[in-house]
Amino acid sequence: MSGDYCNLTKLREFPLWEKIDQKRIPLSFELEITARCNNECRHCYINLNAGDKAAREMELTLDEIGHIAGQAVKLGSLWCLLTGGEPLLRDDFKDIYILLKRKGLLVSLFTNACLITPDHVDLFKKYPPRDVEVTVYGVSRETYEKVTRKPGSYAAFRRGLNLLLENRIKVTLKAMALRSNFRELPAVAAFCRQHTKDFFRFDPFLHLRYDGNDSRNREILAERLPSEEIVRIEQADEKRFGALKKNCEKFFIKRNSNSDCRHLFYCQAGKNSFTVSPDGFFRLCASLWQSNCVYDLKKGTLAEAWNVLVPSVRSLTSSDPQFLEKCHSCPLINLCLWCPAHAHLESGRLDAWIDYFCQVAHARAEMLKSKTKKQGSASIALKKNSKSILNSGPRRKDTPPIS
Ligand code: SF4
Ligand code: SF4
Repeated sequence: MSGDYCNLTKLREFPLWEKIDQKRIPLSFELEITARCNNECRHCYINLNAGDKAAREMELTLDEIGHIAGQAVKLGSLWCLLTGGEPLLRDDFKDIYILLKRKGLLVSLFTNACLITPDHVDLFKKYPPRDVEVTVYGVSRETYEKVTRKPGSYAAFRRGLNLLLENRIKVTLKAMALRSNFRELPAVAAFCRQHTKDFFRFDPFLHLRYDGNDSRNREILAERLPSEEIVRIEQADEKRFGALKKNCEKFFIKRNSNSDCRHLFYCQAGKNSFTVSPDGFFRLCASLWQSNCVYDLKKGTLAEAWNVLVPSVRSLTSSDPQFLEKCHSCPLINLCLWCPAHAHLESGRLDAWIDYFCQVAHARAEMLKSKTKKQGSASIALKKNSKSILNSGPRRKDTPPIS
């Protein structure tokens, strides 16, 4: 249809959105239906072996998933993301998917695509997903399997992805930037943009494991790129850098550091969404595993988690001097991986300052500052804040999308 007759408006730009926001309705939720995976990616924060019997036995049953999804719909949920691990490892994946669709939910799926079969394609044709998001770890066998550590996984990924694309299932692609694959990142970006023109993102931020596994955490740390390399690859990718520059003002926030407010949470955690672990633990967001911030849905109701636990977590405060001086009033929060959940994964504390996150955020700020210096409005936005950029402002993790 001609552009004269239709407009694309983001959901968040409708006046209705503000009302929904104020009412704190759980519009969407993530269901991690398994922590098991057919791959063993070096950077993975959740995966257990595909055949892990204990992990399988702890997984929510189909009935339990139906019970949670039913409660979510009653509270106002419209959209469910099925994720893992690798969701397709569940023998009852098809039943789970249909159950959610029959409850009237939009369903998205995160998958590595290695296990996609013609049966899945038939299922998605009959009951279309909102989208299927596939991560591309490399576009050569060598790089892909260096990340996944599974021989044969590259061929399986290409076969699965082709099945989805050939059958016009709506696919979005994304990538992770790791030490094991960053040299191939330009080729990965080109591959992704060639196959899904309207959307591609890559993520250079690796957070640590949910289970705190020391040896796996060391592997993740070894895959993190240094701040200067993250900045280099962001600058080298024309589209990503263009999006960063375009959204420049949103990355530098004014914050009154003298305010009496000492709250930890200024992000969107628990505002319009929540996450459920494979064994039924409710969290405000996927990374928030601190023991006082989770709720066992096998022992209580989703309404109690949403109406009692969430407000109590969002009212948590800190009086830690370093937190109050640094992250609490930091204008770079939207350029930073820092949030209470990620701080907890790194250090065991929700209010800890994290050196690596800080280095990356400041390197990104410097890069934006130097590259936009001579450019109109973006430069004005930067100048306004430039004094405080390297010192300390607020936090919202709904960072503007970067193509
Ligand atoms: S494919 Fe995804 S879930 Fe599986 S190991 Fe890799 S990152 Fe983890
Ligand atoms: S840039 Fe540094 S001070 Fe600011 S939120 Fe990140 S870690 Fe905290």
